[in-house]
Amino acid sequence: MDKILLLAHTQDDGSLPKAAYESLNAALTLAADLGGAALTVGLIGGDVQAAADSIATCGAASILTVSGEDFATSRYSSDTLAVEALVKEAAPTLILAPTSSRFSRCLPGAAYRCDGRIETHVAAIEVVAGAVQVQRWYYRQRMVATLSRVQRPWFLLIDSGVFEPWQGAAGSAVTQALEVVIGETCRRTKVIGVQTPGSDAQTIRPEAKLLFVAGAGWVKKQTDGQLHIKQAEELILSFITDSKASLGSSKSLVDQSSEGEVISFMSHLNQVGQTGSTPRHPKGLATCCHGEEPHTVGWRFINERRAISLDPNCGWAQGKADVLYVADAFEVIAKANELLANG
Ligand SMILES: Cc1cc2nc3c(=O)[nH]c(=O)nc-3n(C[C@H](O)[C@H](O)[C@H](O)COP(=O)(O)OP(=O)(O)OC[C@H]3O[C@@H](n4cnc5c(N)ncnc54)[C@H](O)[C@@H]3O)c2cc1C
Repeated sequence: MDKILLLAHTQDDGSLPKAAYESLNAALTLAADLGGAALTVGLIGGDVQAAADSIATCGAASILTVSGEDFATSRYSSDTLAVEALVKEAAPTLILAPTSSRFSRCLPGAAYRCDGRIETHVAAIEVVAGAVQVQRWYYRQRMVATLSRVQRPWFLLIDSGVFEPWQGAAGSAVTQALEVVIGETCRRTKVIGVQTPGSDAQTIRPEAKLLFVAGAGWVKKQTDGQLHIKQAEELILSFITDSKASLGSSKSLVDQSSEGEVISFMSHLNQVGQTGSTPRHPKGLATCCHGEEPHTVGWRFINERRAISLDPNCGWAQGKADVLYVADAFEVIAKANELLANG
């Protein structure tokens, strides 16, 4: 009989990230599909009681914890020891965890120490004739593979946005704390601070409802024969700030940005497409972008797609978008900003 362990790290404020609730939902669904497999939750963090209370009614058989100052921040050596201890105590056959930089770093090593195997970027889990199968994408989301393994324990890092987050009442959770001893060598690695970009420079927002994509048209000569780069910069920044949208870009625009100060807050991290990212948002709006295949392949997981382009024959019109507005994006976004400013 399979036994499932769901792992989660707490955030700085002691809460669980959304991705952890999504993985919890995945674990509960899997437990039910396996005919009622036992689920144990393993929490790692500084103080984990609030996180445990938030999932008190999820139906897990037990909640194990590894907590304290040594486990408050991401560190390969202590995180690996924590996972090893949780696996030893729960003796699971399947271990699920959300894809975070922290788990992505420590879980492959922990799987090795536990003589297990690991699958990263899991995008689906299914039980077929009693056997667990997972899916993941390869070659920039162009090929999907279905995998199964006989080796146990089997670690699965679940991509965010795949499962709905678990929602249930909070309560008073009874937890079992595990003692994990950290050596001095382990403590040599310390987090001494966190550097984050200013809030106006933070343009990539994975949780945003809208993906706003800027294309190279923003920095090209407009109908008056002039460049309007400063105006483009202001319009884009104002729109993503007020709408709380996440900012994506075509490759052409970010390539130009690295060659000179074109759109100052744009970097290769914003690039969407075959050689960029494949973000997940409910809606997407492309502006001044031609909608070529290497770009639109990155829109695979955007549910509702709209585009604004001056070219009625652009790629978006060839079935890549649900709605194409043949219009001047400078005018449309200026109007949208006006409406946003007026609430
Ligand atoms: C191997 C390979 C990998 C690639 N990977 C990627 C990738 O990951 N991501 C990616 O984006 N591209 C990628 N590309 C490049 C891709 O093929 C296109 O060249 C690129 O996406 C074009 O960018 P664009 O649409 O912004 O620019 P353009 O093709 O220059 O289009 C600009 C558009 O803006 C419109 N426009 C101009 N002014 C206005 C206005 N005022 N209002 C409205 N519309 C206006 C124009 O009509 C035009 O349609 C890749 C290419 C290759 C060969």
